[in-house]
Amino acid sequence: MSKPASFDDNLKDLRRTINELVTRADGQILKRAHEAQARVELLASSTSPPEEQARLAMLYEVSRTFGSSLDQTEALNQVMDAVINLTGAGRGCVLLIMPDTGELDIQAARNFEKQDLDDEEMQVSRTVINEVFKNGEGIVTSDAQTDTRFADHVSVMRYSLRSVLCVPLRVRGEIIGVVYVDNAAKSGLFDAHDLEMLEALATQAAVAIENARLYTQTDAALSQRVSELETLQRIDRELNTGLDLDRVLELTLEWAITETNAHGGWIAIRSGETSIMSIVAGIGKGSSFAYDGGQIALEQIIPFQSAAKLSSAIHLVVPVRREDEVIAFIGVLRKQGPFSPDARPYLHRLAEHAAVAIENTRLYRSVQAANLAKSQFISVVSHELRMPMTAIKGYADLLRQAAAGPVSEKQIKYLETIQSNVSRMEMLVSELSDISRIETGRMKIIIRPLQLEKYIRETVAGLMPQFKKKQQSIAIKVSKNVAYVNADPARLVQVLTNILSNASKYTPEKGKIRIGVDVDAAYASVRVMDNGIGISTADQADLFSQFFRSDDPIVRDQQGWGLGLHVSQRLVQLMDGKIGFESELGKGSTFWFSLPVSAEGD
Ligand code: ADP
Repeated sequence: MSKPASFDDNLKDLRRTINELVTRADGQILKRAHEAQARVELLASSTSPPEEQARLAMLYEVSRTFGSSLDQTEALNQVMDAVINLTGAGRGCVLLIMPDTGELDIQAARNFEKQDLDDEEMQVSRTVINEVFKNGEGIVTSDAQTDTRFADHVSVMRYSLRSVLCVPLRVRGEIIGVVYVDNAAKSGLFDAHDLEMLEALATQAAVAIENARLYTQTDAALSQRVSELETLQRIDRELNTGLDLDRVLELTLEWAITETNAHGGWIAIRSGETSIMSIVAGIGKGSSFAYDGGQIALEQIIPFQSAAKLSSAIHLVVPVRREDEVIAFIGVLRKQGPFSPDARPYLHRLAEHAAVAIENTRLYRSVQAANLAKSQFISVVSHELRMPMTAIKGYADLLRQAAAGPVSEKQIKYLETIQSNVSRMEMLVSELSDISRIETGRMKIIIRPLQLEKYIRETVAGLMPQFKKKQQSIAIKVSKNVAYVNADPARLVQVLTNILSNASKYTPEKGKIRIGVDVDAAYASVRVMDNGIGISTADQADLFSQFFRSDDPIVRDQQGWGLGLHVSQRLVQLMDGKIGFESELGKGSTFWFSLPVSAEGD
């Protein structure tokens, strides 16, 4: 089926026919054809008068920009410009319904005096606007002063408004606002055509405004969510870099307060396995409240609230859970004005992230406390063991020297066994007490410039009987520019003794031990090389751990507790130095340590 021809097509056809007639006809027929031509043109122009066509073109033109911007302010400005252009009004404004108040509010305006907009009762006809909004029908008047519909409209009369034009902005049947234009000076500015035109414009404008509004809202919500994620990521990063509970609490509280726009806040943590929640950060720090499950009632935290005179504030409290257990609470408060709807979900998310960090630091604290208890126990025990050991050793010595009467060969052998075992115990007690002193921070290190070579030679001399016993050769090579290092004399000797005595212990008879000393700009390094049993790669990883000894029977044959290297490492670190080794099983080992060089000597 062919489409029925439109009015325009018919018109075109008619014009062509008449034109043909005009070219071919003459006389009476030509005259008639001219008449017909004139009537057709009249008909054409009366259907679509030139100003109407111009207005349609303008409507098309002004609304073309709509939708080109997703920025709400810009979209509103485009609409405002279009309205003024199209209507030729003196001034105008766009009012939109505010989602939070439900009230109409001016969102864009042209040619209004600033004070008119600020005035509570603006110099626009609020009554007209309200009516358009309520009824959803556009209103036009060419002279409001004589229009009976406005006779009782106070604002229309008060501001002597004459031409007024106002249409609703509708999206999917719902009114989202109104467009208003007026002119106080001129009457007869607007007519029914203008109303129709503005209504046509408003249809497109409403969609453009709504799109921009939705986009702005989504955009704002999205960027808020992104910035929140960034904060949470930072929280995770910062919270997990340290194991300091106070720092974790301080950071969590700071973020809770700033991100929820609160005036203050607090964090309470469950004390051990009890039902007591102790406030450990923020307002009310130091006080506590009981919590045994369920919802937390604000009355529970009343003591600190009233103490802080904040009982009238608005509180937001969320639990911090680890698995199913509530391990803490985060609370924030505002002295006046409500929290934004995003505050609670944000706080919940913050609590989830903080939970892991709080739990980690709490575990770390309890491990630290257990460690401290262990160190204190060792310190007490080693102190208590020293006295009886000194007595055993002393009396065994006296017995051996026959101070209590003659002793047989056999008795001397037994007494020597007692003495050697007591020395082993003494070594253990002294190494254990060193460890406990280091761990509890009670190890006193007094750093002063020491002539390194002198200390090396003295220590070697002290160990000479040990080397001699195994017929081991010992060589010392010190580079010329080594002079002084900053170290604690007793601890330097302890480290040297341990490394040199190990070299002797784990090197067979007639083995070679060489000591070399080098220096660079900042450090002097001592290297002790032996051609002994060496250390397997598997053992190398554990060498500095407490109580580590190789399973090698040669090692087990030697006296030792596997604490010497651990203590040496800690001591070197306390003196700002480094310690290490290289070794190959069956070939030998090189142990080295470095200490800061000193400019001055003693
Ligand atoms: P101890 O000598 O009392 O066992 P250390 O902590 O001084 O304890 O040494 C730990 C372990 O490291 C030793 O038991 C031994 O297995 C290994 N070790 C240390 N020094 C050497 C060395 N020079 N050669 C081979 N093994 C060594």
